[in-house]
Amino acid sequence: MYKNRGFKNRFDAIDLDPYGTAAPFIDAAVQSVKDGGLLMITCTDMAVLCGNGVEACFAKYGSVSARIGSCHEMALRIVLQSIQSQASKYGSEKKNICKTSMVYTCFGCGSFYLQPAGTNTLTPNGQKFTPGAVIQDKNCNICGHTFKMCGPIWSDKLHNKEFIQNTVDMLNEEIELYGTSKRMLGMLNVVLEELEDCPLFYKVEQLSSIVHVKSPSSNEIRSAILNAGYQVSISHALPTSLKTDAPPEIIWDVMRAWANLYPGKKTFELEPSKTIMSKNPEVSFELHPNAEPQSRCNNLLRFQINPTPNWGPKCRATTSVNHDKLQQRQKRKSKLKESEKNNREYQKKLREKKIYQHREYKAYRVKM
Ligand SMILES: [Zn+2]
Repeated sequence: MYKNRGFKNRFDAIDLDPYGTAAPFIDAAVQSVKDGGLLMITCTDMAVLCGNGVEACFAKYGSVSARIGSCHEMALRIVLQSIQSQASKYGSEKKNICKTSMVYTCFGCGSFYLQPAGTNTLTPNGQKFTPGAVIQDKNCNICGHTFKMCGPIWSDKLHNKEFIQNTVDMLNEEIELYGTSKRMLGMLNVVLEELEDCPLFYKVEQLSSIVHVKSPSSNEIRSAILNAGYQVSISHALPTSLKTDAPPEIIWDVMRAWANLYPGKKTFELEPSKTIMSKNPEVSFELHPNAEPQSRCNNLLRFQINPTPNWGPKCRATTSVNHDKLQQRQKRKSKLKESEKNNREYQKKLREKKIYQHREYKAYRVKM
């Protein structure tokens, strides 16, 4: 890729799909793809990107990950941030500062807030960029717990909806052409329904477990948020996700009302449920006409499981996998070493013998 960085030699499409992280190849890839070209990047080190090994994630992607409910979407946004930060070294993308954010996550109630790296204002002399103002207090105003900070992440749009709509149209026209058309259509339609300007999401079962109640159904919680005047969708990363433009205060009003309607067996004596349940808001769970997502009404195959056990690429090839062959090779090596050693010792002995014989001969000659 480094050999094709010149303007004329660049590639139309580059597909990076190594075992594990693609981080070592991103710099070369962003330099060798054409303007408007297609860059496909797959990273399979999901454990690192989802918060197991914060230091490894920081080393590879320059970002801090966390084990939160929406960690899979965060993983995607960390990779996108890494790509854009490496690509903008070679271009002049000024607005990226406004599309990058740190994430404050409350480890008590799971609420999160985005902290943009910078903001831009329009002045008579053009756009002016300033550092982002701190938006958050030190403690969570819902449960009182402290925050942890992760990121930076890409906090702008995740999908190009026009590109996806074109792909859906093409698939609908040639549905027989691909064996996986149904799977593709289901996932692409979920992506089309996803709210564009709401990074990350809540996990309904996680919210319910904090206040010790059974989870509301998807339609119930979606209706409550829609009735409060906010938008809602799911994320393509998780079937039970709740993506919304409602602030955490509204989400917790809904959960409070739900817990009051259907209380669980546990009481709210311990934190964080004690502080959360100290209020009593009014929320309407009446079924909203838009509560059911269109993709589910149309019975699309939205979240599919792997078709067979061990589906997907196999493990990275290593020498230790073929144990017998490795042992044989080691035996041969040690035999060879031994024979070389014997040979050296034999040669040494031979030399010593020759020297001795030569000395004997010399002594013999002197005597003569
Ligand atoms: Zn909190």
